[in-house]
Amino acid sequence: MIRFENVTKRYRGTKRPALSGVDFEIQRGEFVFLVGASGSGKSSCLRLILREDVPTSGRVAVLGRDLRSLANRKVPYFRRNIGSVFQDFRLLPSKTVFQNVAFTLQVTGSSRGFISQAVPEALALVGLAGKEKRMPHELSGGEQQRVAIARALVNRPQLLLADEPTGNLDPATSVDIMQLLARINAGGTTVVMATHEAAFVDQMQRRVIELKHGEMVRDETHGGYGDRSMIPRLVPEQERGAAATAALSAVQEVQRETETLEPLTAERIAEMNRTPSTHPIVLPEVDVAELGVADRLGLADAAGEDEVGPTS
Ligand code: ADP
Ligand code: MG
Repeated sequence: MIRFENVTKRYRGTKRPALSGVDFEIQRGEFVFLVGASGSGKSSCLRLILREDVPTSGRVAVLGRDLRSLANRKVPYFRRNIGSVFQDFRLLPSKTVFQNVAFTLQVTGSSRGFISQAVPEALALVGLAGKEKRMPHELSGGEQQRVAIARALVNRPQLLLADEPTGNLDPATSVDIMQLLARINAGGTTVVMATHEAAFVDQMQRRVIELKHGEMVRDETHGGYGDRSMIPRLVPEQERGAAATAALSAVQEVQRETETLEPLTAERIAEMNRTPSTHPIVLPEVDVAELGVADRLGLADAAGEDEVGPTS
């Protein structure tokens, strides 16, 4: 699904490369933490995956496409397969919750019928049913991040990239967001999350790729956070401990849910959200062609000249 082959990224006017000889492969359905101190290259990695930037040398392949040979005019279509969330939410302040989630669908020409179904489904999935008409400033930080996640998921992307998504949130709210990302992953979406949150990484026991000064120093299938010396201590120890305990129980709950049920059904998700939903939500992949939007989303010709092999 994502392959980095000996990737080096050097920004103009800088001495040291931001990424140096980075090599990894991420399979469909994985949950991967990208960890490392500030400046270690996490965001650079995510930007290369999104093709917001290109490597100085080496090769990046995402969703079966070699990004070197991806024509510029195809980049917007390629990005529609990828959802992104950021530390600072990036909502449109003068638009309602509904309009924020609907915005990209409108820009890309989705039908009104599709939008009126997909937006409430995405909002229900993140636990915000009934808040469609709120403005971003009327929401808590955690709720704003949920809107951003709904917006990232409304197109049913195969891949979700999250760059420090809990960085602006308090520990308890961070646990909620973490739990939501774990559920999204349990539904089949590949999740790559850059973070400093040692507690979550330790408790989740998912794959960890660690960067240090742009070099990959660790790739562990069930890792913890590792070297903590560089982690900023923004939260008092006591609260950190509480967050870790809460994270553990949240993650154990998600693990129990996913063990007993595979794949996640609409009923199950509705039950987990504890919000009665009139629109059943089905997370696993949608046949885009069947929805009749393949052309508009640029997916009709997705398979073809850009294929690079089994990473898709
Ligand atoms: P992280 O997300 O882990 O904090 P980044 O990928 O943002 O790390 O940055 C890695 C290194 O690249 C840092 O030294 C940073 O200063 C540098 N860098 C990032 N973006 C740019 C840019 N656009 N121009 C120059 N240097 C950059
Ligand atoms: Mg960063």
